[in-house]
Amino acid sequence: ERAREILERTKERETNKLGVEAMDLLDAYGIPTPTGEIVSDKQAAVEAAETIEGNVVMKIVSPDILHKSDIGGVEVNVPVEEVASTYEDLISRARNYQPDATILGVQVQEMLDLDSGTETIVGMNRDPQFGPLVMFGLGGIFVEVLEDATFRVAPVSESEATEMLDEIDSAPLLRGARGRDPVDEAAIVETIQRLSQLVTDFPAILELDINPLVAAPDGVSAVDIRATID
Ligand code: ADP
Ligand code: MG
Repeated sequence: ERAREILERTKERETNKLGVEAMDLLDAYGIPTPTGEIVSDKQAAVEAAETIEGNVVMKIVSPDILHKSDIGGVEVNVPVEEVASTYEDLISRARNYQPDATILGVQVQEMLDLDSGTETIVGMNRDPQFGPLVMFGLGGIFVEVLEDATFRVAPVSESEATEMLDEIDSAPLLRGARGRDPVDEAAIVETIQRLSQLVTDFPAILELDINPLVAAPDGVSAVDIRATID
């Protein structure tokens, strides 16, 4: 029901591209997301950061800017003293990039530990021949470099989702290679299934990417989402 409302609301907008505003969609399907808030002034940004433990991550929220780090629209590891000035920096970078960009605000998000977590990607696009294809692979910088990804037609069963995890070449990286703690594989499998259910329930979702889904030993967290809605 909540997911339906979120998708209805996007229809009223000029764009069919959804960014971090779509976090609620994942939340409605039980996919864990980091603690965070979208704010529209620097005072509110500071207040949001004060409710989050440790340093924060700040990101520009704009339907016109979907690749945020490309324009300097993501700042990680921001201490609370620097939140106000970072807010202004992010807004002015977005304005410089595109003066008429619609800027919805700035997302202030919990900072995840990427030393213990691995960036993966879970996505979907609709193939004219096969229908909704769910993708899983390594995320972050690896996804382009290694092209190590695997696909299944949605809806994806638990055993299919488990196969996907087994199939990628970098599976050992998730399973404790190089002295790292193994990540929570059950949480990845569950996320693949939940995303597959979401896109099965809503044919209007044409494309969706969680990049990264940070996979850690104690669970997963969908840090960034991008979607195209019909
Ligand atoms: P975009 O893909 O639009 O550039 P992301 O939200 O994916 O923006 O952020 C870019 C990168 O910044 C991520 O791939 C990740 O490495 C890092 N990052 C983003 N959010 C967090 C977070 N909450 N905790 C830790 N690292 C983060
Ligand atoms: Mg991203």
